[in-house]
This record gives sequence, C-alpha cells and structure tokens, in this order.
Amino acid sequence: MAAHVLVLPFPAQGHINPALAFATRLASMSLSVTVIITTDLINKATVSSQSSSVSIACISDGKESAEGEESVEAYLKRITSVLSANLAEFIDHNPAKLLIYDSTMPWAMDVALPRGLLCAPFFTMSAAVSAIFYHLKNGGLKYPYEECGEVRLPSLPCLGVKDLPYLSTFMDDKQTILNHLCGQFLNLDKADWIFINTFDMLEKEIVDWMVGKWPIKTIGPTFLPNNKHNNNQTTINIFEPKQDACTQWLDSKETASVVYVSFGSIASLGKPQMEELAHGLIASNRHFLWVVRASEGDKLPRDFNPREKGLVVPWCNQPAVLAHRAVACFVSHCGWNSTLEAVGHGVPVVAVPQWMDQTTDAKFVEDVWGIGVVMKGCEREEIAECIEGVVGGERGVEMRRKACEFRKLAKDAVECGGTSINNIQHFVEELLCR
Ligand code: UDP
Repeated sequence: MAAHVLVLPFPAQGHINPALAFATRLASMSLSVTVIITTDLINKATVSSQSSSVSIACISDGKESAEGEESVEAYLKRITSVLSANLAEFIDHNPAKLLIYDSTMPWAMDVALPRGLLCAPFFTMSAAVSAIFYHLKNGGLKYPYEECGEVRLPSLPCLGVKDLPYLSTFMDDKQTILNHLCGQFLNLDKADWIFINTFDMLEKEIVDWMVGKWPIKTIGPTFLPNNKHNNNQTTINIFEPKQDACTQWLDSKETASVVYVSFGSIASLGKPQMEELAHGLIASNRHFLWVVRASEGDKLPRDFNPREKGLVVPWCNQPAVLAHRAVACFVSHCGWNSTLEAVGHGVPVVAVPQWMDQTTDAKFVEDVWGIGVVMKGCEREEIAECIEGVVGGERGVEMRRKACEFRKLAKDAVECGGTSINNIQHFVEELLCR
C-alpha cells in the first residue's frame, strides 16, 4: 500500500496553492496524499478539481463559533487550539506516515510526533525572508529595527532597513505577528525534512547556508508542472477567477504589450493610492489587466473608465495570465507566490510592496536579480515612469533578458534531473525506507 502523507496548509490563499501543487507532485510519485483544508476556507472557495490524485479533507478551525472581528492574536489562538484538536482527531482516524505542515504552524509537530508520524514543515516564503526571521528569533537582528545604514546577515546581501520585512501594519503590544513568524524555528531540530518553495539557483547562497543548518529541501517553484509528471493541479481560489474573459481579452492583444496588475489576496491599498494607480495606468498609455478584488472596487475613481485600454477583473488565474504571450510586465505587491510566478514566467516586475515579506522580495527583484524596479511612492507619474522603464528602453530589455534567464532556471529546477525534482525524489526514497 502506498505511504499516506497528510499535508496541512495555513488557511490563506498564498499558502494553499503551493501546498496543493506540492501535494499533487507527491501523489504523482506513488504516494497517497490527503490535503487538509479548513471548512471555513472550503465554504468560501472555488475548487478547480482537475486532479483526482490528491484527496481533500476538511476540518474546522472554529470559525463558525468565532464572534465578530478578531484581532491577529485572537485569530492565531483560535486556529492553534481548535485546529490542533481537530488535527489530532483526524490523524487518529486516518493513519499516516508523514505530516507536511505549513511552517507557521509549528504546533502541528506536537500533534503529529506523539502519534508516530514523521514531520516536515513547509516554508512558503523565500529562503531570504525565512533566514531573516531566524535571525530575528535568535537575536542576530533586533526588532524594532535599529535605524542603522545597513544590515549585514550571514549569506544575505547587504540590506537597508526598508528592505527588511515590514511588520508594523500588524504589530500589537505583544508583538504577536513577530512571534508567530519567529515561531517557525521553534522545533526545526526535530523535523525530518524541511521543504521550501524556492529553487537553488534563485537563492543559492542562502539555501547553502540553510542546508548547513537544517535538512532543507528546495522544491519550487511548485506552480510549474514538470514534463514527466505533467500534473493537473487542483487549485483552490478564495475568489472566483474570471479566466475566460481574461484569456479572450489577452488573446486580442499584441505580444508583450499588456501591463498586468495585482496585489494578491490580502493587501488593500488606500483610496488615494488606488486613484493614483488608476491614473498612472491610464497615463502609461498601455493596455492593462488589473485585478481589483470585489472588496476594493469602491476605491476606484468615480470617473475611471479604461474603455478599450484596460480590463478590470475581481480575480483571475494568475499563473495563466503571466504565462500569456501578451503580458509585458507585472505591477505586483511582491508576495512570494507572485514573485516566484513572475520569475517562473520570465515577466519583469514593477514592485509596489505593502508589508511583511514583500519589502524584502522587492529588494531581490530590483537589486539581486535585476528583473524589475521598486516604486518609492505611489504617485501617478512614478507609476507611468516605472512601467515605461520596465517595458520600454534599454533597461527594460535587460530586465526581460534576465527574467527570461530565470524562467529557464526555474523550469530546469523542476524538470527531470533538476535540483528541486531531485530533492523531491530523494525525499520520497528516504520516506519509503523509513
Ligand atoms: N492570485 C490569483 N489570481 C489573482 C491574484 C492572485 O490566482 O487574481 C494568486 C497568485 O497566483 C498567488 C496568490 O494568489 O499564487 C497570492 O499569493 P502571494 O504570495 O503573491 O500574495 P498574498 O495573497 O499571500 O499576499
């Protein structure tokens, strides 16, 4: 009988699809895989069930009895207590050999270990950002950050304070969010494997540094299928994608002519920022495809009318959009999935980071990989200038060339013989011998 593997993602868009994609890949390697999703998430999501190889199971995170708006602290406390109890019960009824869990839920190991399961956390942020949280936990870096000129940490490029993860938006007196993210390193010494959604050639020095400390295995980019196991991936979208409309519209545009704009599933721009963005896109005089989630729609300027220049949708299938020949650049908040998807499709980036890891991802986009620019503010003139800088002119050509190089490296990593696929194969062999 195939070894049974449970996969427990953190219940948020940016964590679920990488976990599902990884699960699909494992299922294509003769493992029996169950992904455990919260009932709250499944109730509000659209599931595109293309893969029958992965089973989806639901457990409650207690949302149904949560009252009113919760603080970050209350939310994390609830999911820790309710999910861990329900996970324990689930494992008791569904014996498995291994639990792969989102690294931000280290308590999952306390549930799985006593039940005899092997344990493997899955990091869904970059290696660089994960390393920064390690240093924050171990005192190599202090929070609040000191206003010094530059921050030097092992294996990382020289960073300014503005390049470090921006946590103030969510910070409370107890530093809940900081403790939550530093908590990823609480029990790593007991992990059997540690997976990270990146690839060696993208973050080589940092990955090498991590491999010297822990049993790290790079397995990304998860969203790219490989030829041999051409996996039909199940995806779960918390908003319904309007993909047909996007594809039809993109099909009608010239190659490398469209600016794609999205700020992911959580980030919320202020009304003035949205207005500047709208005017900046019009001023760029290029076609644009802009994802404005339904909750953000009323922030668009009243007289905003892109006519034939632009298409505004509440959600799309982003990897499919980035893979389209018509897309010239990506105006992005630089969440890690969006960043990896831009890298994996060779699309240059105009980075407009908002918070958390996005500031650090943006620094890498501009200074380390040279595949984009970071906006300093969010004024219409700057938006139009940045788009022009990335799409037109010599610098733009160079950015696209580098982005295409990374696309090739990303593809190589997940093709037969590539670093990520090798890591996954070694892991499966090790698992089957345990
Ligand atoms: N995404 C999507 N359709 C959209 C916008 C985003 O499918 O219209 C997906 C995107 O492909 C990515 C995820 O949502 O995989 C967002 O994750 P990311 O880490 O970039 O940002 P977060 O939402 O966590 O801030």
